[in-house]
Amino acid sequence: MMRQYELVERVKRYNPSADEALLNRAYVYAMMAHGNQKRASGDLFFGHPLEVAAILTDLKLDDATIAAAVLHDTVEDTQATLEEINKTFGPQIGALVDGLTKIKRLDLVSKRAAQGENFRKLLLAVADDVRVLLVKLADRLHNMRTLQFMPPEKRKRIAEETLDIYAPLAGRMGIQEMREELEELSFQNLDPEAYEAIRRHLNELSTKSEKLVEEIEQTLTTKLRAQGIEATVTGRQKRPYSIWRKMERKSVSFEQLSDIFAFRIIVGTVDECYRALGIVHTSWPMVPGRYKDYISTPKQNDYRSIHTTVIGPGSQRVELQIRTWDMDEVAEYGIAAHALYKEGVNDNSRLATESRAYQWLRRTIDLLAEGDNPEEFLEHTKLELFHDQVFCFTPKGRLIALPRGATPIDFAYAVHTDVGNTAVGCKINGRMSPLLTELQNGDEVEIIRAEGQTPPAAWESLVVTGKARASIRRATRAAVRRQYTGLGRQILERAFERAGRPFSDEKLKGALPRLARASVEDVLAAVGRGEMFSGDVVRAVYPDYLDERRAGSDGRGAGQPDGAARKGAGENTGGIPIRGLNTDVPIRFAPEGGAVPGDRIVGIMTPGEGVTIYPIQSPSLAAFDNEPDRWVDVRWDLESGSAQRFPARIKLQSINEPGSLAQITQVIADHDGNIDNVSMKRRTHDFTDITIDLTVWDLKHLNAIIGELRAKRVVSRVDRVTG
Ligand code: MN
Repeated sequence: MMRQYELVERVKRYNPSADEALLNRAYVYAMMAHGNQKRASGDLFFGHPLEVAAILTDLKLDDATIAAAVLHDTVEDTQATLEEINKTFGPQIGALVDGLTKIKRLDLVSKRAAQGENFRKLLLAVADDVRVLLVKLADRLHNMRTLQFMPPEKRKRIAEETLDIYAPLAGRMGIQEMREELEELSFQNLDPEAYEAIRRHLNELSTKSEKLVEEIEQTLTTKLRAQGIEATVTGRQKRPYSIWRKMERKSVSFEQLSDIFAFRIIVGTVDECYRALGIVHTSWPMVPGRYKDYISTPKQNDYRSIHTTVIGPGSQRVELQIRTWDMDEVAEYGIAAHALYKEGVNDNSRLATESRAYQWLRRTIDLLAEGDNPEEFLEHTKLELFHDQVFCFTPKGRLIALPRGATPIDFAYAVHTDVGNTAVGCKINGRMSPLLTELQNGDEVEIIRAEGQTPPAAWESLVVTGKARASIRRATRAAVRRQYTGLGRQILERAFERAGRPFSDEKLKGALPRLARASVEDVLAAVGRGEMFSGDVVRAVYPDYLDERRAGSDGRGAGQPDGAARKGAGENTGGIPIRGLNTDVPIRFAPEGGAVPGDRIVGIMTPGEGVTIYPIQSPSLAAFDNEPDRWVDVRWDLESGSAQRFPARIKLQSINEPGSLAQITQVIADHDGNIDNVSMKRRTHDFTDITIDLTVWDLKHLNAIIGELRAKRVVSRVDRVTG
């Protein structure tokens, strides 16, 4: 296992100003955190993050990345917490470790839900810092190197995932060495037989061709030097996976495969690249269709090189890559070769570093997004779409993709309509949060539910997903309908009771044709909404029923027995129970001074709006004298100690003198009355009319306030206003 000083030394070799203390701290912290944990190989687990860090030192990455690599498994696999990492190592490393923890969670998701096809995009979304991806790739590389300790089935799955996702990702990030190694290791695990066969062939071949490689290297070097170009020429056999892929692609056998050698000519300048190309092309015949100039047209991942194939010495097909040292570094290390984070190491201006880091990140995301073939273009398009999305998780790890700006309410509806409808709160990453929080990539969202809940109609305009909006509309509509149906049932039960006739859904069903309604529920809702009168329903069910008051001298038609409604008002029997405003009955209180508990009350049905509650003494009621069908029996039904307040209105006449209004409002405040609104009108030089809307617990409370006001010298008169 790598020692502490070895880690520091590796970093110092390419970054002499590395933060030694930081690296030491990370080493010790991770070592303590992982303790005696073992890997499948039986080795201490701690060796794994160290190897990952070592891979990244080969890419010459900055201290923060190396430290994050050492710490990358602590949050998910040990008792360590992100808070602690943040505190000990600062927010930058905290963010990197957080990103890695989230990706680890993604890993679990992809395993469980087979959502692999989107996995790479997911990865990009969650990693808001490219360094997270670099650590992840190194992590995967080390896991692949030690895959033999895993059970065969697991091995296959991991290898597949590596070949599908991580190897191409490494390629797109320009880290070709890593891509190749990931591919070879995957291939070896996925198809050991094919791998072995090709390797055997290559071995046979290489004993024969070892000389050939040397010879070609020599010939090339000499020829170039003769033209004044100092070049480093290296040749090698291609690797089994790339040969196998070529065999697959071209449907050829190994024997037919001719170009299994690749040579690299590295020179000093761009100019020398083209001169070297000319020398090669004039020395050996070139194979048509194989020439590509990625220097004049670099690949999207910044890869630059000239590719060509010639029939070289010994009539052997030879693949050539010609490039400068700079280009070679990019080809090897890809985006890791961009010195950005390295520059930032000694930069005191954090802002400058961050904005540069951001630019680099943007560029990298672009570079990962864009491609040079149609397939990649398609992917690019998808990626664009996907920039508008956030990916979140249920506590069980199910992935929920949502549009950007989505809230936990959207999340809840995306999980299930019932979850949305009954959502009352949420935890985001374990913390209680408002339901209107904007969700971020990788958030774990737990919805807190309460049965029998109806979503507030206001949610409809606050959510961003169509599904949530439609579900909320449906649920609120259903809730409103439920309210009207409930009210209608209460009205009807009461009406039948008064008529002395039994009421049941069955009986009502029989009368549906006469009522021209399709269902019992329709009738109930219509009565609740005031579109159908209870008296009509009674007569439809019992055609022989004759309302004795029908022939009465008051000239009113049959229907709601209004006289009884007035008489019964305030009694605690019969009538529709009124439990305040937030109940399952669609009611409201008269706007101009409503009723408060203790008042005798009646309800007036307004079609389409439900029932308005008036105190029995309200002068407004006179307007409904000729519409007996609109009168509804109601009664208070409040739990004792209910914390509800009810609106009331009072009118005062006060003497005009400084401080009189203050005295009045003080009285109300002293009595725990809430003032909603005050309006004043100067009546004469001496008096002002004041109207106060306030909320009180009940009639007793209201009367106490009125009594106290009357006792004030500045108040000449107080009256309650009732509708
Ligand atoms: Mn790991």
